[in-house]
Amino acid sequence: MEMAVIVLKKRRESSLRRKHPWIFSGAIKKIEGSPQSGDTVEIESSDGHKLGKGAFSSHSQIAVRMWTFNPEEDITDNYFRQRLLTAYDRRKYLLESETTDKVACRLVNAESDGLPGLIIDKYGTYLVCQYFGAGMDKWKPVITKLISELFHPSGVYERSDVDIRSKEGLKKQTGTLWGSEPPGEIIIEENGIQFLVDIQRGHKTGFYLDQRENRKEICDFSKNAEVLNCFSYTGGFSLYALKYGAKKVVNIESSQESITIAEKNLVLNGFNPDKMVNIKGDVFQTLRDLNNKGKQFDLIILDPPKFVESRRHLKKGTRGYKDINLSAFRLLRPGGILFTFSCSGLLSPELFQKIVADAALDAGREAQIIKWLHQSSDHPTALNFPEGLYLKGLICSVI
Ligand code: SAH
Repeated sequence: MEMAVIVLKKRRESSLRRKHPWIFSGAIKKIEGSPQSGDTVEIESSDGHKLGKGAFSSHSQIAVRMWTFNPEEDITDNYFRQRLLTAYDRRKYLLESETTDKVACRLVNAESDGLPGLIIDKYGTYLVCQYFGAGMDKWKPVITKLISELFHPSGVYERSDVDIRSKEGLKKQTGTLWGSEPPGEIIIEENGIQFLVDIQRGHKTGFYLDQRENRKEICDFSKNAEVLNCFSYTGGFSLYALKYGAKKVVNIESSQESITIAEKNLVLNGFNPDKMVNIKGDVFQTLRDLNNKGKQFDLIILDPPKFVESRRHLKKGTRGYKDINLSAFRLLRPGGILFTFSCSGLLSPELFQKIVADAALDAGREAQIIKWLHQSSDHPTALNFPEGLYLKGLICSVI
């Protein structure tokens, strides 16, 4: 069957020439043929130059996710094999650095690894896949076969239960794709600390792998510190703080399941249970309560969920970030340290810095940025795909 051809409007090929991997529906002049959602299509400029091949989506505003900018390259099993192997090789430094059967990291970071619409995370001997593009979804059987052959996992599990699938006309899907079903709790190791991960029910694909390097950053500030870990999930930052000498850690988290795992993680690593306190509640309210009680901390971590889901939510999200940062600045002792994050891709680093600066101002605190943080290196951002950079963080020291 002839491959359909997508012809772009005049001058709309410039982003493709810079190898940006998306074509928005508004850039399309005409479609020659009748491609189904997920089919591979050829792309042509308005003056007839072939620009590459991509996966068509009839539902999404992202009408095409580019496979290749080489018009001669065929999209076959071998195409995927090569890209998967390249992604794996890029992470060898990590895969070989920890206890091999407990390594957890992102193996494939979608567009930024040249595999649009696909995330693959490794948790010990299990691989967890998330498909969020109509094109990649069609290649699922091929990808499953390839990764089981190339990486020898005990099982491949799908966690395609993300809302963006609906924008591509896809239903949510979860379940074992190959090999054995992952048990409810598996143990991973990160910088010498062990964590229980529930692949089937945990957040994202089970763990916030993107914070691995940032969690390590708190080691320098933990000694003898009283720590407040807001949005603590299964205790990631808290266990690092305890390992590096924190006097006490207070967690605030709304999910009881996550708190239960945090408690198990504490025991798993042999820490004194008296050193961790879990407050089940809303961070916004709890920070106010702690302020009213006159509590003070040496180190505060703010790692909230995404407050800005779409441009519509920018204003409300901005208010949310300001609110928690303001409360945190008030709670810090002189000389204290704030780790503050935003995983909202739509919030620019500049705006994030301004929100944090405004919060410090309103709290009447003087603060400096010690360091900018981003998502960990196994979540790279392709230079031609700035949208891939979503996690921003600041380490601030307060006078
Ligand atoms: N820092 C964690 C990841 C945090 S993810 C780590 O390193 O693993 C954000 C967490 O905030 C989730 O566990 C979610 O359940 C929790 N959460 C979301 N909204 C909340 C709120 N308003 N109050 C308290 N916890 C909240």
